[in-house]
Amino acid sequence: MIAAAQPIIGEEERAAVDRVLKTGMLAQGPEVKAFEEEFSHLVSGRTCIAVNSGTSALHMAFIAAEIRPGDEVIVPSFSFAATANSVCLAGGTPVFVDIERDHFNIDPLAVEAAVGPRTRAVMPVHLYGHPAAMRELAVICEKHGLLLLEDAAQAHGASLDGIPVGAFGLGASFSFYPTKNMTAGEGGMVATGDEDFARMVRLLRNQGMERRYENEVVGFNTRMTDIHAAIGRVQLRKLGGWTTARQENAKFLDENLRGVVVPPVANGAMHVYHQYTIRVVDLDRDSFAEELVKRGVGCGVYYPTPIHRLPSFGLSLDLPATEEVARQCLSLPVHPSLTPTDLEKIVETVNAVASAGG
Ligand SMILES: *Cc1c(COP(=O)(O)O)cnc(C)c1O
Repeated sequence: MIAAAQPIIGEEERAAVDRVLKTGMLAQGPEVKAFEEEFSHLVSGRTCIAVNSGTSALHMAFIAAEIRPGDEVIVPSFSFAATANSVCLAGGTPVFVDIERDHFNIDPLAVEAAVGPRTRAVMPVHLYGHPAAMRELAVICEKHGLLLLEDAAQAHGASLDGIPVGAFGLGASFSFYPTKNMTAGEGGMVATGDEDFARMVRLLRNQGMERRYENEVVGFNTRMTDIHAAIGRVQLRKLGGWTTARQENAKFLDENLRGVVVPPVANGAMHVYHQYTIRVVDLDRDSFAEELVKRGVGCGVYYPTPIHRLPSFGLSLDLPATEEVARQCLSLPVHPSLTPTDLEKIVETVNAVASAGG
C-alpha cells in the first residue's frame, strides 16, 4: 500500500532529541529560541513564537488580536475544525462563508458579502498548501477596518507574488503535526510583524508571565518543549528539499492523470502541496476512494463534512461550492517519500478507476 502521508524521521532528528535529553533541560529553552529565529526566515523575518500545537497558535493569536464575545470572525467552512474552534475558544463567533472551487480557498466575494457590524477579523486558510487570495482579502480588510489573520497550518513555505504566507496578516499560525509538511512531533508557531501582539502571545503561552511570578495576564501553559523544537529545527532545514519533491510529484500527477480534475495553481502562487487534491466529478467519490485503496493506493478525504455541519456547530447554511467540493475532493499521495514506481502506480490506478467508471 502506498501511504497517503508519511512523516520522515531520520538519524539527525534522533540525534537532536538525544542531545536535548543529555542536557537534562527539557522544557522551553535554547532550542525553542533557536527554532523561532530560524523559522522567522520562512516568514520574511517576522517575529515567531513557538507553542505546543497549531490549534494553540490559532487560539493564542485570536486572544492577542482581542477577539471578544460578540465579535465575529469570517472563516471558510471547508477546513479542519481547529480553524473555527479556535475562534470559539477565544470567545468569538465564527461566520462560515463559501470557497472558490479551483483552489478550495475562501472566496473574497463571499467574505465581502458577510461583513457586518460585528465583524472584527477575517481568517483565510491556505488549504492544502495553496495560498489564499491575499491581495483581494487585504483590500476588503482595509476597506472595512478588519484584522487579517492566517491559518497557515498546511502551508509552510508557500508564497504569493513572492511574499511568503504568514507574512500577510497581523498574525499567522503554523502547525507541526506529524503529517504536515514538516513536524516537531506536535507543535505550532505564531508569526507576526507586530511586537505588542508577539509579546501578548509570549505572555499567554506562559501563564501570563514574562518575569517569573509576576503574572500580568491570565494565561495558559502552551509552551513547546526543547525536545520538540530540536526535531523542528532539523526538519526546517529539510523543508526546502521536501517542498521541491512535493512539487515535482505534483507536476507528474498534473501531466498524467486523466478523467479527474487536477488542482490548478493561481497566478503568482507557489503551492507547497501539503495535499494533492483532485475532484472526482462524474463518479461517486467514496467508491472511487475505496477502489484506489483496494488496489494499493492510499488516499484521504479532507474534509468530508464542512465545519458548519459538524455536530459541534450544527448549522444549516447555503454554501454551494463548499458542499460540492466536500462531495468531490480526494487527496492522493504527494509526499517526498514517493518513488518513481509509486507515482506510476498512482497514475495507472487513478486513470484505470476513472475510465472504468469507479
Ligand atoms: C493541522 C491544522 C490545524 C491544527 O494544527 P494542530 O497542530 O493539529 O493543532 C489548524 N488548521 C488547519 C487548517 C490544519 O490543517
